[in-house]
Amino acid sequence: MSPRTAQSGTARFSPAQSYDAVIAGGGIVGAATALACAQAGLRVALVERDFMGGGATAAGMGHIVVMDDSEAQFALTRRSQQLWQAVSASLPAGAEYEARGTLWVAADDEELAEAARKQAWLAARDVPARLLSREELKALEPNLRDGLAGGLLVPEDAVVYPPVVALHFAREAQKLGATIISGQAVSRLADGEAVLADGTSLRAPRLVNALGAEAARLTPGLPIRKRKGHLAITDRYPGFVRHQLVELGYLKSAHSVSGDSVAFNVQPRATGQMLIGSSRQYGNEDCEINQPLLSAMLRRAALYLPAIANLSVIRIWTGFRAATPDKLPLIGASTTDPTVWLATGHEGLGITTALATAELLAAEFTGSQPAIAPETYLPARYALLYSG
Ligand SMILES: Cc1cc2nc3c(=O)[nH]c(=O)nc-3n(C[C@H](O)[C@H](O)[C@H](O)COP(=O)(O)OP(=O)(O)OC[C@H]3O[C@@H](n4cnc5c(N)ncnc54)[C@H](O)[C@@H]3O)c2cc1C
Repeated sequence: MSPRTAQSGTARFSPAQSYDAVIAGGGIVGAATALACAQAGLRVALVERDFMGGGATAAGMGHIVVMDDSEAQFALTRRSQQLWQAVSASLPAGAEYEARGTLWVAADDEELAEAARKQAWLAARDVPARLLSREELKALEPNLRDGLAGGLLVPEDAVVYPPVVALHFAREAQKLGATIISGQAVSRLADGEAVLADGTSLRAPRLVNALGAEAARLTPGLPIRKRKGHLAITDRYPGFVRHQLVELGYLKSAHSVSGDSVAFNVQPRATGQMLIGSSRQYGNEDCEINQPLLSAMLRRAALYLPAIANLSVIRIWTGFRAATPDKLPLIGASTTDPTVWLATGHEGLGITTALATAELLAAEFTGSQPAIAPETYLPARYALLYSG
């Protein structure tokens, strides 16, 4: 059997197989990285413990959003959003990519001032964004409650169904010769070798840890904390909302570094369903639904969209974001092993930023010029923590 033969299900290899890069973790980040590396001509293996796109990627909302929390976050989200635009026509219908636009909702004059600041900041960086009066907001989204101050429409933001995209990327990589292994955990990722649960050894000079919130299991000492989130999805109510709606207060709650929080964040799906988010919680690593937090999240949604309380919610789930202390991902060489690269720590933006992450790593591996400066995302910024 050729080492480049695509695999699925449990596979046994002997002796060790060699690749240019072995990627552990078949979420959106690992799958996108496998595809980018395969497109760059590298011989790649992608190993997923369960099934492609089944981790945080399946739990996430799929909002592709340009963020302005910092210049580094902006660069990564904007570059990625443009890569999503470029790839969108080639995605399968099941990926449900739609350029819905984000509508940031301002509840009061203070938040409207924040919307104006954000608009000017984005305009200075060539990102289209339109400030909306309260009347324009109401005309665009009639189910929003009366009395809101206005909003900001960022039309190039989009939504997607992430697990389908992760599987699609893995299959595209496979078509280019990548070896895809699912249903097998990587038990060791170090010293140029990925050892699988069945003892198979895959050797490569570049090992990529793309294990999301579980990355520290194979690269101990990473500054990653699990940040739990709840989402709910309704039955089908086409047209109930038309844009991804997010409260401007989200910026305060999502980016607070401690404490439980909920924020109004509602997304219309191609199916006519509404995805209702979201919560953020540290220190709770079980998958159980937290009823008080869920209730607070649903109440928050009803505060902005009163009629949402009349819709039936058909499923609720939780997932874990991989959070870093400085809210930026870890993309690049690890500081502990010259054969290990990291692609984790994307917190609540990993669907958005998967493509730019993959592009950065593929550029690094092939020695080509990256589209954005890689320095701010390098794990080396945490060198002291690692060694501690
Ligand atoms: C509630 C919620 C809402 C979100 N909403 C958004 C959003 O709207 N927009 C956005 O951009 N992001 C969003 N996110 C964040 C986004 O979902 C994540 O950042 C992203 O999915 C991370 O992808 P990943 O590939 O790094 O991790 P994962 O998808 O978790 O993939 C890691 C993979 O590694 C596998 N694995 C683990 N251990 C092993 C092992 N030992 N061997 C092999 N494989 C292993 C796992 O099975 C998993 O499939 C949200 C997250 C949550 C929880």
